[in-house]
Amino acid sequence: MAKRDFYEILGVAKGASEDEIKKSYRKLAMKYHPDRNPDNKEAEEKFKEVKEAYEMLTNPEKREAYDRYGHAGVDPNSGMGGGFGGGAGGFGDAFGDIFGDIFGGGRGGRGGGPQVYRGADLRYNLEITLEQAAHGFDTTIRVPSWDKCDTCHGSGAKPGTQPVTCTTCAGHGQVRMQQGFFSIQQTCPKCHGSGKIIPEPCAACGGAGRIKRNKTLEVKIPAGIDNGMRIRSSGNGEPGTNGGPPGDLYVEIHIKQHAVFQREGDDLHCEMPISFSKAALGGEIEVPTLTGKVSFTVPEGTQTGKTFRLKGKGIKNVRSGYTGDLFCHVAVETPVKLTDKQKELLREFDRLTSEGGSKHSPQSKGWMDKVKDFFE
Ligand SMILES: [Zn+2]
Ligand SMILES: [Zn+2]
Repeated sequence: MAKRDFYEILGVAKGASEDEIKKSYRKLAMKYHPDRNPDNKEAEEKFKEVKEAYEMLTNPEKREAYDRYGHAGVDPNSGMGGGFGGGAGGFGDAFGDIFGDIFGGGRGGRGGGPQVYRGADLRYNLEITLEQAAHGFDTTIRVPSWDKCDTCHGSGAKPGTQPVTCTTCAGHGQVRMQQGFFSIQQTCPKCHGSGKIIPEPCAACGGAGRIKRNKTLEVKIPAGIDNGMRIRSSGNGEPGTNGGPPGDLYVEIHIKQHAVFQREGDDLHCEMPISFSKAALGGEIEVPTLTGKVSFTVPEGTQTGKTFRLKGKGIKNVRSGYTGDLFCHVAVETPVKLTDKQKELLREFDRLTSEGGSKHSPQSKGWMDKVKDFFE
């Protein structure tokens, strides 16, 4: 079944602000809330739909992915052609700065009982070369993972002790507050929604019940990937709380500057210096491409700025499979450090071309005419 557009579900415009989204969500959530529509399947479906749209559009990462790729960008079953292999667990070393950048908070679930939060998403910045981006490659990355604490077996309580039911919320994880005419349900401030209090936290995990470690993930970078694109690894983000689902891991691609080529979408550009005599006489030249050298013939009288397009020598688009072109921009090089003999030949050459008048240098002629008009 085709999914409805998230913006349409919430009845907001595509560029809607977070405030607008929140406002619209609150209105719709009130309307379809199961408490107000008991045994109404249709309302329940609508409520779920509204909730999903809201969660997607208020998570900046997900919203961006959705705006760019539609449902495919946020659907856990479609991964942009890239993929992850199984992780081989690893332990020990400290986490690098790359994980200093942790974003996206968990979103609370509704209803009675402990608040369930989805884990935060993680971003991993992966720097690759243009060649790797063009051809695709497999690599491994080290990412954090969380294991159940061996000491307390995940309870977070010091061995020999037990978590106790929170007295503030009586274990519901939520408290009702009276505000004017409304009764509002809130996450319990004492137990933060878990419904339990740990009187003596486990020393090994500080009461979290889990311990952060490292694991190795295999990442398949698809050919044609571009700067700023992300590959998602579902469920490899931070773990959720109170049994909530884990967040996702996003591998963000950063392509290093290339010595020869500049990339523009699927096309490549390069500057191609050719000698003054080659430009005048024409002839065969060799140009580099990402798949090896190719040669082609520049015509007689080639000028600086002239662009040659080599069809299909660009980069294959990661989605469409269409291959871009390579544009070679000619830069005629003025010869330097000439010997006396070379200078003599050039003077002779200059004398002969001057005799031929303006036909050898139409650009200069046109320019001189304009200058003359300007002064008269
Ligand atoms: Zn522990
Ligand atoms: Zn509580």
